Amino acid sequence: MRPEDYITREGKFGAHNYHPLPVVLEKGAGVFVWDVEGKRYFDFLSGYSALSQGHCHPKIIKALTDQAQKLTLVSRAFHSDVLGEYMEFACKFFGYDKLLPMNTGAEAVETALKLARRWGYRIKGIAPEKAKIIVCSENFHGRTITIISMSTDPSSYADFGPYTPGFIKVQYNNVGELEEALKDPDVVGFLLEPIQGEAGVVVPDEGYLRTCYDLCHAHHVLFIADEIQTGIGRTGKLLACDYENIHPDILILGKALSGGVTPVSAVLASDEIMLTIAPGEHGSTYGGNPLAAAVGIAALEVVRDEHLSENAYEMGELFRSEMQKIDNPMIRQVRGKGLLNAVVTEPRGGKVAWDICLALKENGLIAKPTHDHIIRFTPPLVITHEQMMEAIGIIKETFELF
Ligand code: PLP
Repeated sequence: MRPEDYITREGKFGAHNYHPLPVVLEKGAGVFVWDVEGKRYFDFLSGYSALSQGHCHPKIIKALTDQAQKLTLVSRAFHSDVLGEYMEFACKFFGYDKLLPMNTGAEAVETALKLARRWGYRIKGIAPEKAKIIVCSENFHGRTITIISMSTDPSSYADFGPYTPGFIKVQYNNVGELEEALKDPDVVGFLLEPIQGEAGVVVPDEGYLRTCYDLCHAHHVLFIADEIQTGIGRTGKLLACDYENIHPDILILGKALSGGVTPVSAVLASDEIMLTIAPGEHGSTYGGNPLAAAVGIAALEVVRDEHLSENAYEMGELFRSEMQKIDNPMIRQVRGKGLLNAVVTEPRGGKVAWDICLALKENGLIAKPTHDHIIRFTPPLVITHEQMMEAIGIIKETFELF
């Protein structure tokens, strides 16, 4: 079959809820992927930051296949020999009392919202049905009805109403607006991305997270960090919140928690918060399954043992400094932290970010635009100095065409 045939078949039988780059992949290893014609590409999307440990990391794949031969699912109706080990490992890794396992990022966000509301009613003493959660403009937390109810992006929420009530929207990176919103005594939590990923890698001012955290605590409000995209080494520290030495009351993780191998997400919190949910009040058939537990441990061990946060920090500095050297009128801004980076472009001569991504693909590097004009560059964190220089060469060469 030719690449066009695969694409046509997907378009014919699949819902049109994505607009993929026209490349059909069949193999991946580390920072590379290969298409059905055997052409090799640098993967500079990394499954929207899920593949931080690189494609098919041997240690994670071994954990998956070993576990797959033994036991794959018990549901939470029974215990398994690996779930407790994973929970203990992850709790100690991130410094929390308890972990609640889910599968996708959106499910983990939903879980965090339920926990915050429950804590509000049971601990803070909010009147029934009154709890409110503050969220930020341009946020991206997933695609469920409740999550899109928090969105300020019409392409996420338009014509999917009626929406879930109970959210207050404030401007991201605006302390004054948060302060004002926190005056409402029914607020139970403030949910944010420490760097807004889908919005186009929007990095807030230094000190913003710390100020928000302190304000939340002054108002007895939970600080909830969605680190699904920023967490687990991506930004050059284990958590993006570590840059400001803050320990979120509720931490939401996903994506790289499995290194792109199987859907694994988690919510971490203190006993006080977590134990507000009792048996039968929340869960998921696949949440915490043995495969996910084995893969989760291996994925975190790889991040620790291969010093991926440190590598992301160094490679990120290198990447941005090299991008800044490119003298091209289509480049408006280079921004990011660690290996969560974006180049903001400007249309020129009828050419837009999508055209640059097509040209990058031709030259052997795949990346994806977000919001039409922003190209996200988020390679696996295992990228070496030599590979990074080669990839930077491809990007420079490609920009010369525009
Ligand atoms: N939260 C953030 C910050 C994300 O970047 C994403 C996905 O891009 C999600 C939540 C949703 O995760 P999932 O697609 O696994 O539901």
